[in-house]
Amino acid sequence: MRENILYVVIPCYNEEEVLPETARQLKEKMTSLMERGLIARDSRIVFVNDGSKDRTWPIIRELYEQDPLYAGVNLTRNRGHQNALLAGLMTVKDDCDITISIDADLQDDLDAMDEMLEKYHNGCDIVYGVRSKRETDTFFKRFTAQSFYKLMKLLGADTIYNHADYRLMSKAALEGLSQFKEVNLFLRGIVPMIGYDTDVVTYERHERLAGESKYPLKKMLGLAFEGITSLSVKPIRFITFLGFFIMAVSIIVAIYSLVQYFMGSTTQGWTSIVLSIWGVGGLLLFSLGVVGEYIGKIYLETKERPRFLIREYLNRNHDNDR
Ligand code: UDP
Ligand code: MG
Repeated sequence: MRENILYVVIPCYNEEEVLPETARQLKEKMTSLMERGLIARDSRIVFVNDGSKDRTWPIIRELYEQDPLYAGVNLTRNRGHQNALLAGLMTVKDDCDITISIDADLQDDLDAMDEMLEKYHNGCDIVYGVRSKRETDTFFKRFTAQSFYKLMKLLGADTIYNHADYRLMSKAALEGLSQFKEVNLFLRGIVPMIGYDTDVVTYERHERLAGESKYPLKKMLGLAFEGITSLSVKPIRFITFLGFFIMAVSIIVAIYSLVQYFMGSTTQGWTSIVLSIWGVGGLLLFSLGVVGEYIGKIYLETKERPRFLIREYLNRNHDNDR
């Protein structure tokens, strides 16, 4: 049997509506896992407050005061789902042997944890939760999400299909993750790079418990964009190929126009000139934009800004330190 202190890490942004119920269901799950000896008694449920504007943090604090099972991490401001999750994982890394990350709305099936832990005890260091169906998602969400996975694959980013951020990671895997210093963070793309023995657990995705999605279209597009540009340089390569292609075409056009010139029929050509000015101009602008995107990324990376700042870490295990 491997070491088995489990910390469940849950990023929360304005989740006051679901938190009490989430906490209750998670506690039930943890208790049953403890009773079966799958996890240690000093395991924890850690809520990460991602700069919520509602009562999320007070609720977390209350839970922590009532029951040593609950712990909380409070970020100094909203940093987005991925950064909040990373903040949670990195904060608890040295206190536990296993982490499972899950969303606050319990769309992901808690019962999949049993199988994840089983796989961990059989030697896996990363276990991905994968949705078998997305029937409870709206058509729009399903469509956009699936197009995203396909696009990622096409662009060469190695992600697990239909896996969000519901996954088990061992301490070793977390150590690995902590070595990735990138500021432009897309965990789903980075975790597969860590290595170790991995496996997959499938489950059915439920509806959001209450409240509404904290991922409006704008944030979703942001995540998709982040995912592509922080993982792959294929867009740049694509531009290079396009450049070659256009060069070849322009050589042919040059030969053609010279031939026309020597044959003495050069009065026409206005259309082709205008077309090429606009065509190439547009292409140049587009390419500049994409290249600029990467330069922007480099700019941000070189700054090495902190990815998150922690205001408080509430955990009964640490209370004696203070
Ligand atoms: N979340 C967060 N910071 C944000 C947005 C979302 O920590 O800026 C959390 C949110 O509280 C939830 C998880 O990320 O636990 C996933 O969000 P949500 O369920 O709204 O996304 P969806 O399931 O609709 O993609
Ligand atoms: Mg959700």
